[in-house]
Amino acid sequence: ALSEKFEKILKKLRGSGVLTEQNIAEAMKEVRLALLEADVNFKIVKDFVERVGKKAVGQEVMQSLTPGHQVVKVVWDELRAMMGGEKAGLALSSAPPTVVMMVGLQGAGKTTTCGKLARFFKQQGRRVLLVAADPRRPAAGDQLASLGRDLQIDVHRQDQAGASQTDVVRICQDGVRRGTDQGFDVVVLDTGGRLHVDDELMGELVAVKAAVKPHEVLLVADAMTGQDAVNMATQFHERVGVTGIILTKVEGDARGGAVLSIRAVTGQPIKFLGVGEKLDALELFHPDRMASRILGMGDVLSLIEKAQETFTREQAEEAQKRLTSNTFTLEDFRAQLAQVNKLGSLDQILGMLPGGQKLRGAMEGQVPEREMKRVVAIIDSMTRRERRDHTLINGSRKKRIARGSGTNVMEVNRLIKQFLSARKLAKMLTGASGRRQLAQLLN
Ligand code: GDP
Ligand code: MG
Repeated sequence: ALSEKFEKILKKLRGSGVLTEQNIAEAMKEVRLALLEADVNFKIVKDFVERVGKKAVGQEVMQSLTPGHQVVKVVWDELRAMMGGEKAGLALSSAPPTVVMMVGLQGAGKTTTCGKLARFFKQQGRRVLLVAADPRRPAAGDQLASLGRDLQIDVHRQDQAGASQTDVVRICQDGVRRGTDQGFDVVVLDTGGRLHVDDELMGELVAVKAAVKPHEVLLVADAMTGQDAVNMATQFHERVGVTGIILTKVEGDARGGAVLSIRAVTGQPIKFLGVGEKLDALELFHPDRMASRILGMGDVLSLIEKAQETFTREQAEEAQKRLTSNTFTLEDFRAQLAQVNKLGSLDQILGMLPGGQKLRGAMEGQVPEREMKRVVAIIDSMTRRERRDHTLINGSRKKRIARGSGTNVMEVNRLIKQFLSARKLAKMLTGASGRRQLAQLLN
C-alpha cells in the first residue's frame, strides 16, 4: 500500500543524519513512483514532488527537527495541502432550509449517501426532507423511501413515468417549497444518474440547479474508480458546477488515487467520505488525518508535534543565534538537556534539538542516557556566573562543583570538555555553509 511505501522511503531519509540534494532527489523519485502507482493524477504528482523537493532542500524547515523529520513534515504538509488543507464540512444556511443537491453517475452511491447525510443532520437535531428527484425510475424512489422509513425521515416523492425535464424541475421545486413551508432545516435532492456522463443528464441537472438554487451541489464519486472518478468529477464541475465532493467506497480503495488528487484537479473540496454500506459509514473529511493515514506514521508525526510544542520557531532561532555567536553557555546546554528529559530518549531527542543533530555527534558515546542526571547535577552545582562563563571555573571551583554534585573533578573536567567540543562543532556546522561542509565530508 501507499502508506507502506511512504514509510520505507521516509525511514531511509530519517536514518540519514544529513540531507543532501542528492538523497532528497532520490527519495523524491521514489515518492513520485509510489504516487503514480497509487493512481494519483500524473500532473498532480509532478507538482507535488517539485514542491516537496524544493522545500526540503530550501530553508522552509524547522530548526528544531532533524533533516529526516523535516522532510516527513514537508511531505505531510504538502499532502494535506493537496487535499485541501482545512477540514470542510457543510455550512448550513442562516435562512433554512439548506438545500443540498446530490449529483453523480449511477451506482456511485448517491442515494445511500443521501440517507447517510440525512442521518448525520438528524443526529444534530435537524429536520431533514429527502426529495426523490429521479421520478422516471420507480426503483430509485423506492430505495429512498425505504431509507426514509429506516431513518424515520420524510421523503418527498412524485414518481412519473416519462417525466420531461420540466417535470423533473417542477418536482424538485415542489420538494424545496415543501421544505420551506413545513419548516425543514435541510432538503436533500437525490437526482438521477446515468452510467456515463451525457448531455441529457447534464442539461437536466443544470435546469434543476438554476431553478432551486441549492446551497450545495455535492458530487458523489466512487473512490474505487480512481482517475475515472477524477475525470468524471471534472466534467460534472465544468458542466454543472459543484461545491464539494463526497467520495464513497473509500474503505475498499487500497490505492487512494482519487482521494489524493480529486481536490487538486477539480479545485473542489472533499466534504465527506463514505466508508461502508451502512448508514453510519460516513466520515467528515479531514485532510490532516488522511495525510497521516497515508504516511502511516502517526508516531513520527506526534514526535514532530511534540518538538514543535517544546521549541517554538523563535526559541529555535534564538538558540541557533547563540550557538553561532559563541554565546552558547553551560546554562543553554543545561536547558537543552532539561528539554531532553521532558521528551524522552536522549538519542531521539538530541536529534530534534536546535543544533542537536551535531551535539549528538559530538557526544556520541560520551553521554549515555544514564549519565544525563550526573551532567545535570554538575551544571546545577555551578554558580550562575560559572554557568554563563565557563572560563571562571578554575581548580578550586572544580573541587567545589564536584563535591556539590557528588562527582569528582575528572568528571567536571570531562563535562566542560564535552560542552566545549559540542559548542565548537555546533558552531562550525550551523548555517548553510556548515551544512554543506558536513554533507561533503559525509559523501
Ligand atoms: P446511486 O446509483 O448513485 O444512487 O448509488 P446507490 O446509493 O444505490 O449505491 C450503489 C451501491 O454502492 C450500493 O450497493 C451501496 O450499498 C453501495 N455503496 C454506497 N456507498 C458506499 C460506501 O461508502 N462503501 C461501500 N462499500 N458501498 C457503498
Ligand atoms: Mg440512486
